[in-house]
Amino acid sequence: MSKPKILIIGGGYGGMMSAVRLEKELGLNNAEITLVNKHNYHYQTTWLHENAAGTLHHDRTRIMIDDIIDTNKINFVQDTVVEIKKDEKRVILQNGELTYDYLVIALGSDPETFGIQGLKENAMSIRSINSVREIREHIDYNFARYNNEGQKQELINIVVGGAGFTGIEFVGELADRVPELCKEYDIPREKVRIINIEAAPNVLPGFDEELVEYAINNLERRGVEFLVNTPIKECNEDGVLLASGEEIKAATVVWTGGVRGNHLVEEAGFETMRGRVKVDKDLRMPGYEYIFVVGDCALIINEEINRPYPPTAQIAIQQAYTLARNLKTLINGGGKMEEFTFDNKGTVASLGKGEAIGVVGNKKLFGSTASAMKKVIDNRYLFLLGGVPMVVKKGKLKLF
Ligand SMILES: Cc1cc2nc3c(=O)[nH]c(=O)nc-3n(C[C@H](O)[C@H](O)[C@H](O)COP(=O)(O)OP(=O)(O)OC[C@H]3O[C@@H](n4cnc5c(N)ncnc54)[C@H](O)[C@@H]3O)c2cc1C
Repeated sequence: MSKPKILIIGGGYGGMMSAVRLEKELGLNNAEITLVNKHNYHYQTTWLHENAAGTLHHDRTRIMIDDIIDTNKINFVQDTVVEIKKDEKRVILQNGELTYDYLVIALGSDPETFGIQGLKENAMSIRSINSVREIREHIDYNFARYNNEGQKQELINIVVGGAGFTGIEFVGELADRVPELCKEYDIPREKVRIINIEAAPNVLPGFDEELVEYAINNLERRGVEFLVNTPIKECNEDGVLLASGEEIKAATVVWTGGVRGNHLVEEAGFETMRGRVKVDKDLRMPGYEYIFVVGDCALIINEEINRPYPPTAQIAIQQAYTLARNLKTLINGGGKMEEFTFDNKGTVASLGKGEAIGVVGNKKLFGSTASAMKKVIDNRYLFLLGGVPMVVKKGKLKLF
């Protein structure tokens, strides 16, 4: 009898951890597992803001996939998924196609532009190694132009749209990086503007007020300007146009205002909410008992507040554990499937080197303690992925 084929599409937090857990849960003879990813490396999306600002080299953020999984046990295919044929149990790739008995969709997210005119075309976004390398180079290049091209202010204006988690983490890194750039390109620090624009009444919506205040004070002291309650109406080649009619000229506009599920999920004809599938309790696609969805493509309701859990690496990693056990159950002939429950271990947002805010358990954390906790969280993920050797190779080992 032929072995059931498990196909995982996407090698981010959800997909990579699914592969690692399946490698552990299933023997070679139980199933044929294939992982497809655009690149031959996995990257830690949660570090990309550092690469974008230029405070951390992108090679620190990426890990070769064959350093994580045993390619004798799991087939790795480097290719781009272009279509999911849900009823034919096929996935079309740029360079071929694959069939499956069980599919794990772990394709991550796309930027959510909320219909803001020109945003997709003119703003950059923090979403992959390629995109953050471009942001870093772009900022550098415009700083280099400043003294050659009549010291035009817009060249050194950096607009960050969205003051949620990603936006705040990014401006924190920029506040560290800009003084270095100023030194390198002979630009007075006070000339550079880092402007963080948010449509909601406050930054970090949903976060504890005391922590938010700490973050704002810290970032303002380091030269970040906040414009809250300020919707962006349009983004164009010159910068952004606010709903108030005011124009802010900026050579660099980075959009961090939200994400939606990967477009391929919606395009496959699945029912979605902002591109995310409201999965069954066992993480399967409603109506498709052979398709699982994890990570940013999956939507799970937090029943305490009747709202979806925000898409995070933390939930994606936990889902991979449940998914692997459920696939094992199915492959072993069925039985009771495990229901996924999210165990919220807390949230920590970095504000730059040695600075962060967060809540872990009932405890609020500030400054260097929060920053050390952030590194513990990052190292823990690396440990789950590849044990101590992975922490030593890729971890952030200096806590303070
Ligand atoms: C700057 C930043 C900071 C963040 N900080 C935190 C944090 O501190 N804590 C936290 O919990 N969460 C954080 N998040 C959110 C977290 O990174 C995401 O929720 C998480 O990455 C989701 O995991 P995923 O597996 O669904 O997607 P991803 O990790 O994005 O992985 C998707 C993978 O699919 C691949 N892929 C996409 N399309 C295709 C295709 N067509 N064909 C083949 N492969 C494809 C991609 O290359 C990628 O490898 C942060 C996000 C950002 C951007």
